[in-house]
Amino acid sequence: MHIRAAYFRRPKLFTMKNVIIIGGGAAGMMAAAQLAKNNQIQVTMIEQNEKLGKKLFITGKGRCNLTNNTEPEELLSHTVTNAKFMYSAFSEFQAQDVMRFFEETGLRLKTERGNRVFPESDHSSDVIRALEKQLLDVDVRLNTRVREILWEKYTEDEGKYTRRVTGAIVSDRNGRRETLSCDAVLLATGGYSYPQTGATGDGYTFCDALGLKLISCRPALVPFEIEESCCHILMGLTLKNIELTCTAKVKNKNKVLFRDFGELLFTHFGVSGPVVLSASSYIGKYIPDGVTLHIDLKPALSREQLDARLLRDFEASKNKQLKNSMSDLLPKSMIPVVIDASGVSGDTLIHDLTREERAALVSTLKDFTLTVAGTRGFDEAIITQGGVSVKEINPKTMEAKTVKGLYLAGELIDIDAVTGGFNLQLAWSTAYAAAQGIINSEVKI
Ligand SMILES: Cc1cc2nc3c(=O)[nH]c(=O)nc-3n(C[C@H](O)[C@H](O)[C@H](O)COP(=O)(O)OP(=O)(O)OC[C@H]3O[C@@H](n4cnc5c(N)ncnc54)[C@H](O)[C@@H]3O)c2cc1C
Repeated sequence: MHIRAAYFRRPKLFTMKNVIIIGGGAAGMMAAAQLAKNNQIQVTMIEQNEKLGKKLFITGKGRCNLTNNTEPEELLSHTVTNAKFMYSAFSEFQAQDVMRFFEETGLRLKTERGNRVFPESDHSSDVIRALEKQLLDVDVRLNTRVREILWEKYTEDEGKYTRRVTGAIVSDRNGRRETLSCDAVLLATGGYSYPQTGATGDGYTFCDALGLKLISCRPALVPFEIEESCCHILMGLTLKNIELTCTAKVKNKNKVLFRDFGELLFTHFGVSGPVVLSASSYIGKYIPDGVTLHIDLKPALSREQLDARLLRDFEASKNKQLKNSMSDLLPKSMIPVVIDASGVSGDTLIHDLTREERAALVSTLKDFTLTVAGTRGFDEAIITQGGVSVKEINPKTMEAKTVKGLYLAGELIDIDAVTGGFNLQLAWSTAYAAAQGIINSEVKI
C-alpha cells in the first residue's frame, strides 16, 4: 500500500529560489549565512559600503558585545519596543543559539559582567570574519547600492497580499545601473544611527514606496541636551552610583518614565553615561511634553540618614562657610552647583545654618533636577527607535503581510532594546526567522 502510494506520488519539482539581501550588516550577514546552507537558494547580497559589517566593527567599542548570555525571557524583558513581536524569533534563535553559531565557526567567546558576550580576542573584526566565512556561496556585491525594489500587483490568500517583489535596481560607484530579478528580497538596511556606517535610511524609503506603515524614527541610546547651564561647569565630571529618575507631565500628572542606578557623565551639552543612554530609550516620545531628570546623589542614604550625616560633617566645621564644608560629601565642582540649586547662600557660616536650610540641602542632594532640552542626533545614537511597524510583519517569518516575498530583519523594524548585546540579538534573531521564512516559502514555478 505504502509503496503504491509512493509510486503514484508526483515527483517534487525543485526550483532554485533567487534571494536578494539588501544590507551586509549584522542582520544581512546572519541571514545570508543561514540561507547559504540551503543548496536550493541562490543568495545575492548587496552592500553599498566597500566592506561588510562596517557598523559591527565599531560595536562594543570595537570589541562587539554580540549577545547577552541569558534566557529568552530576559531577552524579551530587555527589549524596549515591541517585545511581544519578538517572542517567536527569540524562542527559535536565542542567545545560546547565537553563541553556538559563532563557536561552530571557530570563534571563541567569553561572557563578562552582566552576561555580556564578547569574542575572546576582544576584536569585533573576528566576529565579522566569522560571518564572512559562512558566505562562500553568496554572491556578495560591495560598493553597490539598491535604488529601488521592483514589484508587481499580486492577489492570493483571499487578497492578503497586494504586491509581490520581483527584483531590485542597483547601481555601482560609477552610477552604472543594473536590474536584478529575484523571488524574495530581504531588507536588512538598518536604521539612521551612525550614518557614516551606511545607515542611510534607504530601507524606510523602500518600505514606504511599498505601502508599509512606518513609525517615526528618533535617536535612542543617546545622550541628552540639558537646559540648565550648570552642565558647562560640571563638564567632565562622572558621578558613579547615582539614581536617575525621569518624569514627564502626562495629562497633567507626573509620570515616572524610567528609574535606575548607574553612572552619569556631564558634558558640554548636557549629560551622558550608561544610565542616561538607557533612560533615552524610555523618554524619547515624551520630550515634547517636557522631561525632567531627578538625580539622587546619595541613593544609599534616606533623607533622615543624610540629614544626620550633614549634622555630623558640619559638627567639625562650625566656623566655616557652607561652600567650604561639603567636600566629604560631593566632588569639588559639584559643591557650588548643589548649594546654588538649594537656594542657600554658600557664604552662610555653618553655625548659622537653619534646620530649613539643611532640609533644602538634603532635598537638593536627594533630588537634583535637570530639564531635558532634547537628545543628541542620530550621529551619536547607538540605535534608531521606530521604523517599519511590526503590524506589517509576520513575526514567525518576518515576511511583510501585504507584500509577498518581502522579508525584513534588524534595526529597520520598529524594535529596539537596551545595551548589553540585546540589539545585536534582535538583529540575529530576526535574520534567522527571515531566513527560515524564505527557506520554507513555496517556490514560484
Ligand atoms: C557605536 C555603536 C556601538 C554599538 N554597540 C553594540 C553592541 O556592543 N552590542 C549590540 O548588541 N548592539 C550594538 N550596537 C547596535 C548594533 O550595531 C545594531 O543594532 C545592529 O548593527 C543592527 O544591525 P542591522 O543589520 O539591522 O543594521 P546595520 O548593521 O546598520 O547594517 C545595515 C547595512 O545595510 C547597508 N545598506 C543600507 N542601505 C543600503 C542600500 N540601499 N543598498 C545597499 N546597502 C545598504 C548599510 O551600508 C549597512 O551596512 C551599536 C551601535 C553603534 C552605532
